[in-house]
Amino acid sequence: MGSQEVSTADWQGKHVTVAGLGVSGIPAARALHERGALVTVVNDGDDERARAQAAELEALGITVRLGDGATLPPSTELVVTAPGWQPDKPLFLAAAEAGVDIWGDVELAWRLRGTNGREAAPWLAVTGTNGKTTTVRMLASILQAAGLRTAAVGNIGVSLLDAVLGETEYDVLAVELSSYQLHWAPSLRAHSAAVLNLAPDHLDWHGSMEAYAADKGRVYEGNTVACVYNAADPATEELVREADVEEGCRAIGFTLGAPGPSQLGVVDGILVDRAFVKNRQKQAQELAEVSDVNPPAPHNIANALAAAALARAFGVEPAAVRDGLRNFRPDAHRIEHVADIDGVAYVDDSKATNTHATEASLAAYDSIVWIAGGLAKGATFDELVTGAAKRLRGVVLMGADRALIHEALTRHAPEVPVVDLDRTDTGAMSEAVDHAARLARPGDTVLLAPACASMDMFTNYIKRGEAFADAVRARAEESA
Ligand code: ADP
Repeated sequence: MGSQEVSTADWQGKHVTVAGLGVSGIPAARALHERGALVTVVNDGDDERARAQAAELEALGITVRLGDGATLPPSTELVVTAPGWQPDKPLFLAAAEAGVDIWGDVELAWRLRGTNGREAAPWLAVTGTNGKTTTVRMLASILQAAGLRTAAVGNIGVSLLDAVLGETEYDVLAVELSSYQLHWAPSLRAHSAAVLNLAPDHLDWHGSMEAYAADKGRVYEGNTVACVYNAADPATEELVREADVEEGCRAIGFTLGAPGPSQLGVVDGILVDRAFVKNRQKQAQELAEVSDVNPPAPHNIANALAAAALARAFGVEPAAVRDGLRNFRPDAHRIEHVADIDGVAYVDDSKATNTHATEASLAAYDSIVWIAGGLAKGATFDELVTGAAKRLRGVVLMGADRALIHEALTRHAPEVPVVDLDRTDTGAMSEAVDHAARLARPGDTVLLAPACASMDMFTNYIKRGEAFADAVRARAEESA
């Protein structure tokens, strides 16, 4: 099929291999089958759940091959993959050798948008190492406040395919894109896009920092109105410079300081726009107050500015930016205040699964008992610990790679007391909270910001956050 535009009719009789059952694979297989493609789904796993899902697809006439996601079915003309599948899988190598295109779920949604008789809504895209979900939700809230029909979709849990092919009509979509999704989305062209920040993450998947950055940078390709970058993170601006955009598309920066021309920033506690105003050399437009941002932690104000920049690029009025930010409620496990006990605040930032997010989280409090640890995913902790050392009252460590954090603490903050929890059972979090409570003084914050993935001890970061919140609430009841 090469890179030519695919219309509904093109699918008839095409042999498409869908790699991976799951949140993106199942809707992809169904959508392609409905359009007349001959779909084979291949999946590594062969467990009970996979068999049940396979049975449903087979009932529709879709072929499913369980227990072998490595071999490319011989007649394949296109592979549509789940975004998480690593690029060096034998299936992809075989596809590349055979000259077969590989699309991710986002590419498929992009190609199929507008094929169901509805106008294709433009996409405002957000990527970055941290803050994507928050920013996309803020953006959707602002667009809604402006009276636009919109939804937060993509990597956020709402399938893009459902959004572009579903019943609901949209004026514009607020799209969260992961680096994996961007890797597999060669022809995506957003109206405007933001890269929030760039720090090493998922390097095992991408192979190198350069490859990771290049995949993130794809979000700017072909933008028509604005490429939004983080003025405090030169790597994001560099990606804008490298991008091939439409004539007239502008580079728009956001900063926590006073904005220059073509930037959004903060002046005396006010979020201001010096980009989408008539005379940007002399004028700035007030958008909202810092206190309208929830929570008003520095990194979150940056998220709000990025969301505001995308909304303004789409022509949204200042009052809607303010109302949208005021209406916004953060998702669970993202700097979530759980309880105050004996003058100590307990905060759940279980979503801080890497050092970059944890750095932002630790920067938001003055005196902290820090609960951390889990799977380090190749990260090092020296910089994180050095930056936070002065604000650490104490540290409780748990999980598989806790020794890495402990060693960094010994090197850079030897005076900070550390409790090293050598257990991984379900009761471990409760013991961690007990230790943290003992270390804390009134006015302190006990902060779960693990800087690590959770899968060594928990199903996911949500379960980890819930274990923390349960332990804190149990404590709160005891002390009440
Ligand atoms: P993502 O969707 O990119 O994972 P989230 O909005 O879910 O982002 O936030 C993930 C974690 O990153 C949270 O722990 C949050 O505290 C932290 N975070 C949010 N925004 C930023 C930012 N702009 N810079 C650094 N860390 C951030």
